[in-house]
Amino acid sequence: MNLAEPLQAGDRRALAKAITLVESTRADHREQADALLTTLMPATGRALRLGISGVPGVGKSTFIEALGVFLIEQGHRVAVLAVDPSSSLSGGAILGDKTRMEKLSMDTRAFIRPSPSSGTLGGVAEKTREALLLCEAAGYDVVIVETVGVGQSETAVAGMTDLYLLLQLPNAGDDLQAIKKGVMELADLVVINKADLDDQAATRAQAQITSALRLLPTHAHATQRVLKVSALKADGIAPVWAALTALRAEREASGAWAARRREQSLAWMWERIQAGLRQAFTAHPAVQAQLDAATVAVRDGRTPPSTAARQLLAAFRTSP
Ligand code: GDP
Repeated sequence: MNLAEPLQAGDRRALAKAITLVESTRADHREQADALLTTLMPATGRALRLGISGVPGVGKSTFIEALGVFLIEQGHRVAVLAVDPSSSLSGGAILGDKTRMEKLSMDTRAFIRPSPSSGTLGGVAEKTREALLLCEAAGYDVVIVETVGVGQSETAVAGMTDLYLLLQLPNAGDDLQAIKKGVMELADLVVINKADLDDQAATRAQAQITSALRLLPTHAHATQRVLKVSALKADGIAPVWAALTALRAEREASGAWAARRREQSLAWMWERIQAGLRQAFTAHPAVQAQLDAATVAVRDGRTPPSTAARQLLAAFRTSP
């Protein structure tokens, strides 16, 4: 089946099928997916890749809908992907659910895809990275990757996007939590949502977060990087986009934009090598024969961990 051509011609069904192919765990599908991605590689890389996170209820889908509609009106094509490693447990896609973005999901200039629902965070992130490349090849020039503001998924999303936007509620307790978690450090832009509910609280939060950001070594000039919006009223969306495009221009000029992409690609390669090696290691017959005993011996303090590791690695190096 030739998916590359219809996908590049903008056929959304071909794109959806291609994403299903990269998400598949079947070995023959994996081969086809690799071939497809390799064919499409020259057509990738042109989008602005935007990560968005925030706690459940902060207004992620409302914000993405408002931003997405704004961008489409400006002539952009917008794809929305999600990373939600918990969706395999909860059984349903909380993120990237089309009913959460009503206008955007109806528009032919937008493409919305829920999180792949199988496997570990590493596996889910891998599939989303590949889906992102497919969306770029299909001509989407803004690709939004959404994740919930809990756990490790923010790091994964920041690691696959050019700019990372953190949505916040206008109350201080929440802000301090995010700062403590170090998520703030990842954020290129902090957006305080629901300013329509209490504009004063939003302004206070803006000041608090701005001064907290200034303490971070990476954000010494944080003034322009905390904005307030009302996603529900689609208020303040244009300044958010202006801030994002200004950051892009600044980083493209300094070379930081391309450098971040290069680093991300290499980190992705090494992450997959490590995952593959670990899988091959635990599946190796000689390792399997010794692993349980070694685990018990290390756990009980009879064998030093590094000795056990060396012995297991030696067993791995012998041919099966
Ligand atoms: P998500 O879980 O982060 O995706 O949050 P949702 O987008 O589903 O929003 C959670 C709730 O907050 C919904 O009831 C929204 O209508 C509401 N909401 C989102 N943005 C705003 C806003 O800017 N102002 C107000 N007043 N409510 C909002």
